[in-house]
Amino acid sequence: MSTKRDYYEVLGIERGATQEEVRKAYRSLARKFHPDVNQGDGEAEERFKEVNEAHEVLSNPERRARYDRFGHDGEQAGFGDGFNGSGFGDLFDMFFGGAGGGQRAASSQRDGHDLRFDLEITLEEAYAGVEKSIKLVRQESCPTCKGSGAKAGSSPQRCPSCSGSGQVRHVQSTILGSFATVVPCTRCRGEGTIVTNPCETCSGNGRVRATRERVIKVPAGVDTGTTIRLPGEGDAGARGGQSGDLHIYITVVEHERFRRQGYDLYCELDVPFTVMALGGQITAPTVDGGETIAIPAGTPSGTTFRLRAKGMADVYGRRPPGDLILVTRVAVPSSLTDEQKRLLRELAELRGEALSERPGEQDKGFIGKVMDAFR
Ligand SMILES: [Zn+2]
Ligand SMILES: [Zn+2]
Repeated sequence: MSTKRDYYEVLGIERGATQEEVRKAYRSLARKFHPDVNQGDGEAEERFKEVNEAHEVLSNPERRARYDRFGHDGEQAGFGDGFNGSGFGDLFDMFFGGAGGGQRAASSQRDGHDLRFDLEITLEEAYAGVEKSIKLVRQESCPTCKGSGAKAGSSPQRCPSCSGSGQVRHVQSTILGSFATVVPCTRCRGEGTIVTNPCETCSGNGRVRATRERVIKVPAGVDTGTTIRLPGEGDAGARGGQSGDLHIYITVVEHERFRRQGYDLYCELDVPFTVMALGGQITAPTVDGGETIAIPAGTPSGTTFRLRAKGMADVYGRRPPGDLILVTRVAVPSSLTDEQKRLLRELAELRGEALSERPGEQDKGFIGKVMDAFR
């Protein structure tokens, strides 16, 4: 815990950085160290966590002020965790007269939420890449009032209760003396402004719900668990706040034939036993069609054949595609004609293999006939 890096250092910003600078630094670092871009890179993952933690504290004016005063200790003493509830945060404010709170700049801007969309695709789509049209319900900036919430010709007014600061100060007298508590203004809900003449389209909200159709480009090689992030495509921010991001969570539906393992695909290949014994050609399935492969004579069941680059692509293009691995399996015929049965019995007899029923006839040139019958 004592080796924890300074949050400003983590984000690479000055101690006096504005909220906008904090946000910018966070966005660029989070993008750089995001697990989707750095798969399997443990150090990047650590940095990503560190960056998130630093942002969580520094983007919150009150937690930031606390951190400025007390460093990591202030956070670790539990003030960080309980802060959003009514527990430690209020208590702390009471003793320190609302450290940080009083300095908070009046601001009514709020950032939009990130949105999640779950997208199911087939293995064929994941193999080749696909464009999918999705329907998305999200908050968008109200087109009538351009997000201000105020009716045309009017603008939001400074809140008279808190004089635009978004906060009000309560002085409490207790047996220990007087304490000042700073709480969000109830009249403007901490926004500092109130809309006296609300826009009719959005009822003063500044945002409206909208259903949007959007085409998502899914790159070849994605797997279940891959997420695609579309910056700024989430809920719109209110009154100048930034829009959230849209995160597309991919699920690849299980395929009846192919199993994915890493970049490789596995598939069972049914081969007639005559082909296994005598050799021959067979068409093997691939995700995008089929490919003819040669089976050597005397191939045992369970033999694998590898088709190079017929597996899954790497989404980031860092390596060549995986392979398709075919595992042979003897296909035993379920229905046989009398002639086929006779030839098989003959074969068994020649090989000294015991059957439950004895054949009645003999024949010559049995190999050729077995082959004819099964081709
Ligand atoms: Zn409006
Ligand atoms: Zn107010």
